[in-house]
Amino acid sequence: PTRQEVSYFGAGPAPLPTPVVEAGARAFVNYNDSGLGLGEISHRSPAANKILDEAKANLTTLLDIPDNYEILFMQAGGSGEFSAVVHNLVAVWVERRRRRAEADISKTNAEKAQVDELVFQRLQKEVEEELKLDYLVTGSWSLKASQEAARLVGAKYVNVALDVKKANGGKFGTIPAEETWSLTPTKKEGGKGSAFVYFCDNETVDGVEFQSFPKSLEAQGQDAEDERLVVADMSSNFLSRKVDVRKYAVIFGGAQKNIGVTGITIAIVRKDLLPPQTATPPAALLHRLNIGGLPGPVVLDYATIAKNNSLYNTLPIFNLWIAGQVMADLVTAFGTQRVSGQEEIADHKAKLIYDVMDKYPQVYHVVPDKSVRSRMNVCFRVHGGDEVKEKEFLAGAEKRLLQGLKGHRSVGGMRASNYNAVPLENAQKLVKYLEDFATGQ
Ligand code: PLP
Repeated sequence: PTRQEVSYFGAGPAPLPTPVVEAGARAFVNYNDSGLGLGEISHRSPAANKILDEAKANLTTLLDIPDNYEILFMQAGGSGEFSAVVHNLVAVWVERRRRRAEADISKTNAEKAQVDELVFQRLQKEVEEELKLDYLVTGSWSLKASQEAARLVGAKYVNVALDVKKANGGKFGTIPAEETWSLTPTKKEGGKGSAFVYFCDNETVDGVEFQSFPKSLEAQGQDAEDERLVVADMSSNFLSRKVDVRKYAVIFGGAQKNIGVTGITIAIVRKDLLPPQTATPPAALLHRLNIGGLPGPVVLDYATIAKNNSLYNTLPIFNLWIAGQVMADLVTAFGTQRVSGQEEIADHKAKLIYDVMDKYPQVYHVVPDKSVRSRMNVCFRVHGGDEVKEKEFLAGAEKRLLQGLKGHRSVGGMRASNYNAVPLENAQKLVKYLEDFATGQ
């Protein structure tokens, strides 16, 4: 079949806009009549720099990214960021406390030579007693991220502030009220705060999306020790709705769902978490403190990537170009509406799909609670998960060239991923099939 005939609802890698793919195929062979393809040019060439600058500018426009944020293009995927946030933000936690300890101890009569030793001793105690990484575990990906944190620094430092499976009889699919979360209290709340609070904005496998920014994660005060540093994984809903970037310390996402092809990861990082405001703690100190995973690999070090304008090592320029093209097209398509224009379309397509499922509750069961349904990944069962019926459903879909509807292997069932590049027309074809299947046509 041709591209136009196939409607693909895979969860990632996911469809790209056809004009981008076609232009990409040409650029892969001969970019801008240069005689070389995009996979062949240097990442330090003027052409590559232009692609990088334009991608940054368009992303800034789309998400209205303030000046005090750095856009980083990285590799190692969303999973790489699970580790990166730990390496980077625990280092920030150590450095902030090191500075405070140094300032306090320098005020005493301690001899200069002693200061370093006293700082070390105080930090060692603080790590032991106060280091906490808060995770909201609302689905398979935040679970994985929390497990990576535990693998790196040790489980005793990871505070699962929300464990949905535990709260919900062993299943994901809801987001319990914020009052039930057990975030590490900030100074204002009588505690010492955590290194960061992590959540996954859209859980791809479980079809659960935060409907808005959690209230209890709002800034807690002026004091840098008192605020919550919020990290969000937006791998599967990036550029699908308006986001107030100011509320986050780090936003990250792999490109392969809404933005481009696999191989590029975007991280948006608040600049005060980078040098010079917060320098990386001395390696020798980290070695002595012996916190697992610190210091981390240099290719995951935000400060290094920022300092080198994302060109510390070879960046895949073809992949960057694809992402840049998708962003440029969104800017052109929606103008001053920016990402809100895309949000309207995403909401509309999701509503069409959910509406028809709700119309036939005897046939379709949407897995997550209505209050947390993802606009990007529609997870559902057919006839209560009846194996024969579900096979029949998939076979019928396949006949109409509606593809990629099988759920994630870990949860089974069905999943229709409704990313930005899924055309309205394809969503409508799915809706028609859902209707026909339910009415036996
Ligand atoms: N986070 C989310 C929400 C995802 O959906 C995925 C992959 O599907 C990942 C992280 C992991 O991404 P990667 O495979 O790029 O490491």
